[in-house]
Order: sequence, then C-alpha cells, then structure tokens
Amino acid sequence: MLVSVALSVPLFHGFTYAVPRDTPMPLPGTRVLVPWRRGREIGVVLGPTDVVPTGVQLRSISRVLDAADRPAVPESLLALATWIADYYVAPIGQVLRAALPTVLWSTAKPAPTGRTQRVAEIALELPSLLDREQRFARAPKQRALYELLESSGGRAPVARLLEQLGVTNGVVDALAKKGIVRLIDAEQLRDPFAERAAVTLPPTPTPAQRRIVEALTGAPPGTSALLHGITGSGKTLVYIEVLRHIVRTLGRTAIVLVPEIALTPQTVDRFRAAFGDDIAVLHSALSDGERFDAWRALRRGDKRIAVGARSALFAPLDDLGVVIVDEEHEASYKQAETPRYHARDAALVRAKAAGALCVLGSATPSLETWQGAADGRHEHFTLTERAGGGALPPVRVVDLRAARRVAAAERRRAPGQDAPSAYAGIVTAPLDSALRARLTRGEQSLLLLNRRGYAAFVQCDECGAPATCPHCSISLTYHRIPEGLACHYCGHREPMATSCPVCNGTRLARRGLGTQQVERAVAEEFPEARIARMDVDTTTGKWAHAEILDRVGRGEVDILLGTQMIAKGLDFPNVTLVGVLDADTGINLPDFRASERCFQLLSQVAGRAGRGPKGGEVIIQTRVPEHHAVRCALAHDYHAFVREELSARRVPVYPPFVRVANVLVSGLEQRAVAACAASVSTWLAELIAARRVEGLTLVGPAPSPIEKIKDRWRWHLLVKADAKAPMARVLRYFLERVPVPAAHDLRVVVDRDPVQLL
Ligand code: ADP
Ligand code: ZN
Repeated sequence: MLVSVALSVPLFHGFTYAVPRDTPMPLPGTRVLVPWRRGREIGVVLGPTDVVPTGVQLRSISRVLDAADRPAVPESLLALATWIADYYVAPIGQVLRAALPTVLWSTAKPAPTGRTQRVAEIALELPSLLDREQRFARAPKQRALYELLESSGGRAPVARLLEQLGVTNGVVDALAKKGIVRLIDAEQLRDPFAERAAVTLPPTPTPAQRRIVEALTGAPPGTSALLHGITGSGKTLVYIEVLRHIVRTLGRTAIVLVPEIALTPQTVDRFRAAFGDDIAVLHSALSDGERFDAWRALRRGDKRIAVGARSALFAPLDDLGVVIVDEEHEASYKQAETPRYHARDAALVRAKAAGALCVLGSATPSLETWQGAADGRHEHFTLTERAGGGALPPVRVVDLRAARRVAAAERRRAPGQDAPSAYAGIVTAPLDSALRARLTRGEQSLLLLNRRGYAAFVQCDECGAPATCPHCSISLTYHRIPEGLACHYCGHREPMATSCPVCNGTRLARRGLGTQQVERAVAEEFPEARIARMDVDTTTGKWAHAEILDRVGRGEVDILLGTQMIAKGLDFPNVTLVGVLDADTGINLPDFRASERCFQLLSQVAGRAGRGPKGGEVIIQTRVPEHHAVRCALAHDYHAFVREELSARRVPVYPPFVRVANVLVSGLEQRAVAACAASVSTWLAELIAARRVEGLTLVGPAPSPIEKIKDRWRWHLLVKADAKAPMARVLRYFLERVPVPAAHDLRVVVDRDPVQLL
C-alpha cells in the first residue's frame, strides 16, 4: 500500500511512502513520521496513491502519530487546504503547516511557559502635561522613561526600557518608589480576554435586524450573503442572533472572523457575553500550548464557536453551520506570505463545501463582494439606519490649501507676530474650535493621522536629499521616543544624522507629519487634556490595544489620536468628534486600490462619531476635496463611490472585472533581477501562446513601486485573467518549470488576488 504525504517543504506535489505491512491504512489527514533526506519529518497523509517514484528508493512510514479513527486534520479542513494550495498556487505542505497549530508539527511536547521577566506598568497615570512638569521637575530621565512606557501601551519589560533609553535600574526604582510605576513578574500578566468586564447586549433586535436574521437562518444550505450595514447599524447583533439559532438551536458549529483580535476587543466581548464558554478566542498572544488547547477543544466539540483573525478559518470544526466574516473589506484578511490566501474568499469556499451559511459584513464592502452580490453570487441585505437611533454624523471638509493661504495672509497683515505654533500648522481653525468645544463639554474626540513616527522624512535643506533606508528604497521616518530614524518596512534603525551623507550639509529638516508630532503639539496646546496615542509604536505590548481602548471606554481619555487602528469597529457613545488631520496620506499610492482604501478609511473613521444620544460631527482636512474618495465619504454615499470607482476599473481593466495575479521577481542584485524578470515574462508569454490559453493578458514586467525591500530588488509582472481562464493551472506549470538562475538569491513568487501591489 502506498500513500501520498504532504511535507512542509516548498514543493507542490505529495511524496509517496509505503505503509508497513502490519499497519492499517492511515486515513487522509493523519499525521505520520516519515524518513526525509537524512532525518525524519512530520507529514500529513493526503490519501492512497499508485505513483511510484522513479529514480529514488521507496521508503516506508516510520510511525503513525494520530489515532486510527481520529486524524489530526478533519476531512473538511483537508479539502480546504487542497483548494487553497491549488487556487493560490502554494505547496500543500506549506498550507497545512499554516493551518495546523505548531505543536502538531513537532514530536516534542509543547514547551512549558514559565519564563519570568520583570515588567514595569504605569501605576499612576499622568495624562496632563502640567502634572508631568510638576512631578518630573528635576528628573528628565524619569520623565523619558515614563513617556516611553506610556507610548508602549502602559506596560513593557524593564530590560527593553533600559536598553532603549540607555539608563540604569535606578531610574525605574525611583519611579516605583514614587508610586508612579509598579514592577511585576511577567508570569502574573493576565489574559484580559478571559476576565474582561461583562458587557450587556441590546435586549431585542430592531425589526430591520430581525428581518435579516430570519432571512439568513432560513436560507438554503451553502448560501453566502453580503450584509451591508452602515456604521453603527448593529451588524454584531445580527451575527449573534444568527449564531444563537445555528449553534444553540440547531447544535451546529460556527467560525467568526474579525480583522485583528487586538483591535476589536469590543466585538469579542459581545460574542463572549452571548456565548460564554462555548467560544474559543484564537489570538496571536496565545502560546503554542494554549493555541493547541483551544484547537483540541474545538476538535473534540467542547467548544463550538471559534473567534479569531484570518487563521481561525482553519478551526477544526465538524458540522459547520455558519461562517461570519466581519469587516470583510479589510486587507488584513490576505496573508502576506506563502500561502497567500485571502481568508474571506477561502471562507466562502469552506462554507459552501460544508453546506454552511457565509455572511460577509461591512459598512464599506469591497468592490469584489459588491460586484459578487450584483452578479447574484451572494444574497444582499442592507441596514440603513443606526440601531440605537441617531443618524450618521455630518461631515465637513476643510481645504488645507485654502487654510494655509489664509494663515499666510494673516501673518503678512500682522507682521511682528509670533510664528504660528506647530499646533496651528496641524489643526485648522474649524477643527480647533470643534476640539475646544469637546474639551469644555467633557466629550471625547478622535484624531486620525495615518502615519506613525514624528516626521515622515528627514531632508537636507541644502541638496534636498532625503535620508533613506540602506536596505529599502524608502525614506526613513524620524522618531522622537526613542530618538532616531526608523524604516517602517524592514525595521532598520539608526541615530539621527548630524550632517547630510550626500553633501555634508548640516541643516537637516524634518518634514511631514507623524502621530508623535501631533501628540506633542496637541499636548502643548491643551496641557490639561488627557491624550492617548494608538499606533504600531504604542501597541507593542500584548494587550496594549485593549488597554488603551478600555481607558477610552472608561472616559479616562479626552483625545485619542492614532493611525488607521482607531478607525476600526470602536463603539464609544461619548465620542462626538472625529478629526482627520490629513485625508490624503495614501490616496496617490501607485496601486489600483488606493482610492478604495482611502474611502473605506474615511468612512470607517467617520462612523466612530455620534454613536450616542449627543450626536457628533466629523471634520476632514484635505488638499484634494474634489477627489471622489473624499467627496463620497463626506456625503456618506457608498453607492456613489462604487459607481465612480467601478467605472474607473474598466479601463484599464482591474478587479472586480478581471482576476489578477502579481508575479514578483526579487533578488540581491539589481540588474540580475531586471534580467530575470524579463526572461520569466517572456517564458510565460510563450507558454500562453504555445498552449493557446485564452483570456490571459500580461502587463509588465516593471520595477515594483517600492523597488527594494530588505536588500531585495523587486520587479513584477501582472497577469490579468477573465473568469474562465485557467489561471491556477498555468501559474503552477509556470512556477514548477520556469528557469530561474541559481544566483543572487533570485526568487519568483505568485500572489493571486493581491490586496496591494507595492
Ligand atoms: P456596527 O458593527 O454595524 O457598526 P454595532 O454592532 O457596533 O454596529 O452596533 C452599534 C451600537 O448599536 C452598539 O452600541 C449596539 O449595542 C447598539 N445596538 C445594536 N443593536 C441594537 C438594538 N437592537 N437595540 C438597541 N441598540 C442596539
Ligand atoms: Zn528598510
């Protein structure tokens, strides 16, 4: 008896092994230990085969690792993995590797988690600048440490703080003595999802919610549906009522996908409130052992609902009744490395195969999903009103070009006045007065700037050269705490230069706005306001997001400022103002999805305002008020946006009207990469011509918009395919056979249905 076994190696086919005579034939999905090269590897049985390998010796399975009737990978999951491998042109072994908990790929016992680490936590919040100036009057190091701790989400390992600031333990101890900082062991860190304060759910669905719940639960098996509900329309309660029926009444199982667990603690809390212990929350902070426990609980049927980001799609559930994809438009559903699957699209496939319902929810559906509903592939439901009453907040636009002209004219009229403050350069007059009004009334504001760091880039005033990353073709961002230049692509850090590396000029200007600078300017303008900042730099701690958001929820923050992180899913009734400092970041990126992304971001952040009885307003600062992404977000007009954007996707044609795959060629040497890109595109073009494949067009090759990342030069080639073209077959043949020179670490990868082309 022979079986085909998937191994976690970058090869597309399964490997044939013999089953020893006294061993029963293992079921597909069973883990086995097999000889591989000179050692042994764990693999997953794909099924019986009669392919006898030629030229190599046939070897036997060493050991079967799962019980005979209980393969680690249930049948439905193996089918899903196979689909992902085919569609995304990825090796099946690598798909299974991503789908199963790490523990299942190792013969060792899960490592005990027992390391302790000294962690500092803010014990006394000093949110106002005034407070800080008093407490740290003669202790700048203590203040720096406090601020670094604060910008790390309030909690960080002591060792890291000391290293980043170059100070000694004495500084931490002094802060601890003053009662400002508390020192604890890392082991005492709790899992806040397990013991978060209970939330109360709305007592009854509105008639509109109820109608949709009834339609969804009554739909035939395998139905997929778009739930297009404006921000605040109560989509979460619809999901919960659907689950109540399918899980509680029918006894089936469910998967709930959210874009990022850390950013959506409120959503998770609501599911927990409804289903308590029936839920396994799969989040990135779980240890390998904990993840495995959750996986086993789902596999055994002890828990019937899996909630998590992208990879929760692989929850080992039998009798799946429903898959929910919340905020289905989010780019984070696409995995950025092999296997490059899109969890929303794979969710549709898994649900259909299981005869389960699949619900895709969003206030700003992706154009793919929208068009899918228009073509009749999905049912379409709409929630047009906010559930708790209230309307979408009015949105005002401030034209930054005009605002700057007015300010300049005023300065000319009244010379001798002080130069405008940094704050005045960031917050225009209309937003300023709106912000002041909120502070006076004790209401909360959100300020969005989608760029972290202090200054976007540093530029020599004499020769104009920007400071760039030595490993990427990207300018470095200036950070104030800890001070230095950082690359947001590869993580490279270097000290702030004192002179220009190109011309030796000494006047280095910091240009472009980042969240750190906004935080400082706003704090200086409102020394008594309690400000929190949320971006990648302040959320390195495991639970930093939830802690910042909980502070906002408890009313301990007056102004929450941050990047796109603050635009997602937050539901705070006391937030009555949303200010977008610069709507234009990202709008001009060379990517066909740039406008869609911008519209989604503006609509989502606008939707955070006015969720309570006090109402709210939104102010958007922009240099391109006439851009359709800005115009339609102003009017809360999704339909107008979709009309304009869809027509822009016709010529040249882009998704949703074609499917695309991005073929990325990269390597360590610039010219070799260009040459390789040219030769692989010729090879692919000839293949398509020779086989007379219809419906495939090639665009490029061209250098990628970001030409170098992490020392690798990058070129790309876009393959566009109409619906019937055999894209997967052609690309797999191409990847398996295209000659790539074994030099300069040249690599060719395929990204099917890419979410970004940078
Ligand atoms: P969405 O996800 O659609 O933006 P949410 O699910 O966060 O909206 O709901 C917005 C708010 O409306 C929440 O505070 C929620 O508690 C409230 N809400 C939802 N459904 C109802 C209902 N049937 N009655 C009263 N309030 C509701
Ligand atoms: Zn870099």
